[in-house]
Amino acid sequence: MSYKPNNEFNIAIVGAGTLKLTALEAFLPAIALRKKWGFDNFVIYERGADVGGTWRDNTYPGCASDVPIHLYSLSSDLKPDWKNSHGTQPEILEYMREVTDKRGLRKYCSFHTSVDKAEWDATANVWRLEISDVRTGEKHQTRATALISAIGVLVVPSFPKLQGIESFKGEVFHSARWNHDVDLHGKRVGVVGNGSSAAQFVPKISADPTVTVTNFARTPMWYMPSPHVPYSGLTKWAFAYIPFVQRIHRFLITVESEAVFFAFKYKGKNLLSKYFTRASINYIRSKVPAKYHDVMIPKDPYGCKRVVRDQGYLPALNRPNVELTFERISHIEPDGIVTEAGDKVPVDVIVYGTGFVTDNYPMNLRGPRGTLKEYNDAHGGPQAYLGTTVPGFPNFFMMQGTLLTRLLIIAFASSLMTLLGQAPHILDLLAPVRDGVLTSVSPKDSATDKYNDMLQDRLEDTVWSQCASWYRVGSHGRIFSTFPGPLCELWWWLRKPHWEDFEFEGPGAKEWRRRHASSFLAQFGTVALVGALGSLAFASKGSSDGLSDFVDHAGHFVKDVQSWLVQLLAV
Ligand code: NAP
Repeated sequence: MSYKPNNEFNIAIVGAGTLKLTALEAFLPAIALRKKWGFDNFVIYERGADVGGTWRDNTYPGCASDVPIHLYSLSSDLKPDWKNSHGTQPEILEYMREVTDKRGLRKYCSFHTSVDKAEWDATANVWRLEISDVRTGEKHQTRATALISAIGVLVVPSFPKLQGIESFKGEVFHSARWNHDVDLHGKRVGVVGNGSSAAQFVPKISADPTVTVTNFARTPMWYMPSPHVPYSGLTKWAFAYIPFVQRIHRFLITVESEAVFFAFKYKGKNLLSKYFTRASINYIRSKVPAKYHDVMIPKDPYGCKRVVRDQGYLPALNRPNVELTFERISHIEPDGIVTEAGDKVPVDVIVYGTGFVTDNYPMNLRGPRGTLKEYNDAHGGPQAYLGTTVPGFPNFFMMQGTLLTRLLIIAFASSLMTLLGQAPHILDLLAPVRDGVLTSVSPKDSATDKYNDMLQDRLEDTVWSQCASWYRVGSHGRIFSTFPGPLCELWWWLRKPHWEDFEFEGPGAKEWRRRHASSFLAQFGTVALVGALGSLAFASKGSSDGLSDFVDHAGHFVKDVQSWLVQLLAV
């Protein structure tokens, strides 16, 4: 039976870069749509005046990548002439703009445009979008057959709930919205927070000896060195002109960063974790004044919160104009910060390096069964199928959705791989909609719950279940933003849709179901095989506890290595 292609098929992509991957979340589907389908009936809605997301908004002094810069380039748009092993914010933004122009993507971007609301119209099978011009407030209505969300997690600055915070009379701003009009020369600056952002700007602002910095920290962090090593002219030449040299370099960085993942398994009780813990303690103690030697060693296991890649923060703590305190803040007064011990630190400027609101999806989305917020609340926090689709939200897709942001913790390469896996996955799901066979696709509740239960089960066994962090709902709840295995595993799962896990409607739904029944049979065969192996493992498990642990760990290990190898072949 032949179907009439949907001539009105169009796609709205929301956000031209908000996460660490810069514009890539939005651009990967855009590039794939053009390259694979020759399709360009899509619009990228972006609130800002330009591409860049977090790399456009975060302009604080010292803002730079703390992961190797070669992994910041798309495999289709390599950049052999990065100056150093780690790039600065202006360099990364520049690269993004270059890719945008080279790929001709700027004409698809609707800048200064906020998608305020999206509601699924089940009669017309389209998303009804309410958009507004952020400069004028002017509102418009539009429609899209499919909605791809490229909204990242590090978007909305988070301010601590401190009594009297509004009463402060001096200058005050968040690190993600640095106020460059404020001259810090000769000022007393209170910095709240000691995460990755603060660790980058504290050494920069305190390089001026007239600036007095008091850094209010709450929890000690793990630190590892991450120096900016310059690439020699010869290296850059080799990257540019000798085939595969640059790709091998990226491959090796990928291997290194993915290997780190194994330190996060078994709640951090493993040799690799012990090794990193020792190395980090030695590093901290070798860099900071003796008075901090004990207070700066975290009680949480290594990697539970994001490890801070030190690019000068620890040495800066030796400066006479920098003081670090773990005294908790009690409240803010018009001219200073008061600690719970009753000490008042007079300051002229307060900089909040207090991170981002991460567990709230910043768009009002309503599917046929309710809003995304209601769905998330009913599940104890954000959840999605393969981090990409959500039950009850037809033709809605998330790039770097929940449980996918492991790049923020350890690495980038593998995450890029996930994104590279997500873009074709989305296209595969949308192809029958474009062709008029289906009108809508969304994952089943049962498949999504099963997938997420499995992830939660495995996450329980990782180091991230051991402390409060922004990876968890409300800091202490369910882990929603990290993936419990090498990300190549997810990439492997994404490589082809399992249609039996999806609900779909449309004129060809019945035939589509029948056509994909064969894959259900293949699945059944796999399940039977896994079941047989599982029974064998179970039988061994009964024989002794030691053996059972061994079988469990060996099983996980084999699975990890297997996924890891797949990834290595695919970089
Ligand atoms: P963050 O890691 O969430 O750190 C926030 C900091 O604020 C923590 O130290 C937190 O302490 C502290 N804080 C919050 N409320 C406080 C209070 N009332 N009193 C004292 N301290 C308080 O935020 P971030 O440093 O902006 O980094 C966010 C993410 O951005 C990072 O995890 C990383 O993924 C990314 N990032 C990446 C780069 C890069 O180079 N690629 C650079 C910067 C940031 P607690 O730990 O006690 O909560």
